[in-house]
Amino acid sequence: MTTQPTIGVLAVQGDVREHLRALEDAGARAVPVRRTVELEAVDGLVLPGGESTTMDKLVRAFDLHQPLRARIAEGMPAYGSCAGMIMLADRIADARPDQQTLGGIDMTVRRNAFGRQVDSFEEDLHIHAIGGAPMRAVFIRAPWVEQVGDAVDVLAHVEEGPAAGRIVAVRQGALLATSFHPEVTGDHRFHQLFVEIVRGNA
Ligand code: GLN
Repeated sequence: MTTQPTIGVLAVQGDVREHLRALEDAGARAVPVRRTVELEAVDGLVLPGGESTTMDKLVRAFDLHQPLRARIAEGMPAYGSCAGMIMLADRIADARPDQQTLGGIDMTVRRNAFGRQVDSFEEDLHIHAIGGAPMRAVFIRAPWVEQVGDAVDVLAHVEEGPAAGRIVAVRQGALLATSFHPEVTGDHRFHQLFVEIVRGNA
């Protein structure tokens, strides 16, 4: 593969533009993906933050559900932030019965886990997998990971407050997910890690 992989951002709903910018900044060619032909042309895919129930409905309305599941199952690298993390979970806790995910990561994710009174918060996290200084993590009506299978590497936990110890970043092979939004802080080390995963997958 070229040194500049083409990475798509699922563009049916959510903070697509922020991810496109972060990916470009991290050295990828970044393109929005709304159709199967666009999906077929990318080396990896970001599932953005947004609202996972809406994203799920739109993915099905755009006839992207099966193609996305198929590419993920074939090993296409994917990175989901927040609602995107929910989309990559094999299981959701407390979801509406009709909410489907794409799956891929052997984990149970709880939606809006930090409680309605804690709509959003920020915290500095020490993340071994990206090294360097602690990373500012922005949580917005975020999920957490309640349970993981053996194949899943836990990359980060909440470090302070009542939710301390909760899992908020994971990796399983070429699949990456965070409860928080590195696309909004200007610190693009997570996107760089994902670009490296996509390069390594070639
Ligand atoms: N609460 C949203 C959901 O369940 C996720 C929030 C976000 O992506 N910022 O989909």
